[in-house]
Amino acid sequence: MSSVPVVRVALPTPLRRLFDYRAEPAGDGPIMAGTRVRVPFGRRRLIGVAMETAASSDLPDERLKPVLETLDPQPIFDPATLALLGWAADYYHHPIGEVLAAALPKALRLGAAIDALEERWILTPAGLEAYTSGEPRRAPRQRQLLAGLAAGGLTAAELDEKLESWRDAARALTARGWLATVTLPPAGDAALPAGPLAVSPGPEPNDEQRLAIDRVCESLGAFAGFVLHGVTGSGKTEVYLRVVERALHLGRSALVLVPEIGLTPQLVDRFRRRFATPMAVLHSALTDHERLLAWREAFSGRARVVLGTRSAVFAPVPDLGVIIVDEEHDTSFKQHEGGFRYSARDLAVVRAQRGGVPVVLGSATPALETLQNVATGRYTRLLLTRRAAEAAPPRLSLIDLRSSAVRAGISTPAVQAIERHLAAGGQVLVFLNRRGYAPTLLCTACGWLAPCRDCDARLTVHLAAARLRCHHCGADSALPERCPQCGFAVKAVGQGTERIEETLATLFPGTPCIRLDRDVVRRRGDMEEAMRRMASGEARILVGTQMVTKGHDFPNVTLVVVLNADQGFFSSDFRAPERLAQTIVQVAGRAGRGAKAGEVLIQTEFPDHPLLRSLLAEGYDGFARVALAERSQAAWPPFSRLAAVRDSAKTAEAALAFLTEARRTAEDLRTARGSRTESRGIRLLGPAPAAMAKRAGRYHAQLLVENADRAALHRFLDAWLPALESLPSARRVRWALDVDPIEIF
Ligand code: ADP
Ligand code: ZN
Ligand code: ZN
Repeated sequence: MSSVPVVRVALPTPLRRLFDYRAEPAGDGPIMAGTRVRVPFGRRRLIGVAMETAASSDLPDERLKPVLETLDPQPIFDPATLALLGWAADYYHHPIGEVLAAALPKALRLGAAIDALEERWILTPAGLEAYTSGEPRRAPRQRQLLAGLAAGGLTAAELDEKLESWRDAARALTARGWLATVTLPPAGDAALPAGPLAVSPGPEPNDEQRLAIDRVCESLGAFAGFVLHGVTGSGKTEVYLRVVERALHLGRSALVLVPEIGLTPQLVDRFRRRFATPMAVLHSALTDHERLLAWREAFSGRARVVLGTRSAVFAPVPDLGVIIVDEEHDTSFKQHEGGFRYSARDLAVVRAQRGGVPVVLGSATPALETLQNVATGRYTRLLLTRRAAEAAPPRLSLIDLRSSAVRAGISTPAVQAIERHLAAGGQVLVFLNRRGYAPTLLCTACGWLAPCRDCDARLTVHLAAARLRCHHCGADSALPERCPQCGFAVKAVGQGTERIEETLATLFPGTPCIRLDRDVVRRRGDMEEAMRRMASGEARILVGTQMVTKGHDFPNVTLVVVLNADQGFFSSDFRAPERLAQTIVQVAGRAGRGAKAGEVLIQTEFPDHPLLRSLLAEGYDGFARVALAERSQAAWPPFSRLAAVRDSAKTAEAALAFLTEARRTAEDLRTARGSRTESRGIRLLGPAPAAMAKRAGRYHAQLLVENADRAALHRFLDAWLPALESLPSARRVRWALDVDPIEIF
């Protein structure tokens, strides 16, 4: 026991604890919570974050090591964000050091300065003159460097990314007086004028929008949860913009979270055009350096709007005024890989609560959990029932696949409808959630089905590329012409988007058709190009996967055909029907966004399925009511709380062995004398192999833990996890806990 003042540091290790260090910074003042420090750890030196200070430590004096260095002049996490991270570590039962590591951009984890002055290379006036007159003529590298800097100064790091071996060229040009370096605060968006907030006007809100805007704006300054429920095109984004505008006028900032695929240049543009204020945009495609710059913009408060995907929920936002989560039902808000599995939507709500600001969860198809929170009064629902541009809602109907002629996946009624809409000058969207040419390659002689060597899955035929690919592990091989088993000819069976495109080309020769899926869209620009061709009417039919359902306007699409609505009914995941209904509503929302009413045809072999019926008869709300009643009966979330322990191993036996022991440990806890009553109410489901047990050469299994009461479940997990960590079989598998899992297999 030492009575020296200490600082408790979160370090990037899997240990669920903080580490005490003597709080002796090199001279200057006490170390504040939220500051990065460099400390000795074993034989290494690690960078961690000071979480709290204490007057004494349980460790004896001689075991206490000193902090080597403080990296920040002021905390990089404010107390509220630090508390949020601590809360997240508790709630997701994940080591605090790893939680902090997930929240910080890599550059900051490695020690980059948060408020560095940056050295930038710029053109001198002479350099600009030389460049515009086409000099230097015989040094292409120097010429490229001048061109690169003509639009504005760049840092060495930025130049490294743009231009190989630019340093020699820079030396030569500096010697001629054409280049110089200046030291400035990091630029980013800050190049925009500071000063009074300029707002360019948007459309006048309609009555429903006005009501929603007023309700949220009245709550600025205190926590309130809102669900902005409006079909695609009903003007949700417009509501966000108005609310953010109000917050900015009050001198506050806004945090806007969007799903990975929803962060399109159009959306960023819409925010940028509306507010002449710097914005920090954070998403997964940024380089480490770009992420650092964006983070600095947010941290310094220069960026008044922080717009980003999942991990942006941890971004610093001084003077936070409001949080918006767009497409709140989107599963990309849940991190479900790696160690720290969190829901950015749920953390956004917690952050709003702790920060005393309103949060707006927007969606055309709110998650059932979210609707249940509305039902219990936790959130207020704000409805947008009309489409802003006054288009009528689309008509949905089913095509019974059992009684219709089907050619290559497209039924006769669907073909006729496509003909009709094309003849009337409309555009058509054909949706199939499966990319590639065909999901199976079959030998008709011996029955061989091209399997993936490493997964319990079949290989998908990619005909144009002449490859066989596994969509689960990425395995990729040449497309064989003959059966490797018997030498007979092989045949592609079933449909993927590539094949549907081919079928449509034969059915509608001369009608330009484009395809949108991950095989054709490799870069952002590809998507833009497809959008442009649809917008200009150059293309008449669009075939695509999930990719077409997200937030893009196709005002002239009058018909949407959903080729296969049935995957959702065969899954072991109790959330599959919810996903299916969301997809159908989102795809349907692509139809008739312009002046014309749209038609939606859904092909199914189960036209009498109650969930499909309720969706058609009463829309998403009707579906939600039926689906929530089913969940309630089965005691699934939101009527219970769930956690999953998942593992994977080289053999199926090893994967099950660990979870079997884990279950036994749980049962012991449950029946131990003096065990708290809540342990007794814990329901254990499994262990069971995953529906696709073998993936990428490893065997996956899971054990579910369920309880009606959240607090009781968490107290149980607190007791159970340390026991799991000390199981010998834990070392033979890779395992992780997933609290509030959204995928059950
Ligand atoms: P959502 O986010 O719900 O899909 P948007 O906010 O993108 O809807 O609105 C859809 C379209 O309607 C956009 O082009 C938008 O500019 C326009 N819009 C939104 N609100 C109004 C309004 N009150 N009056 C006219 N047009 C509007
Ligand atoms: Zn064969
Ligand atoms: Zn595979």
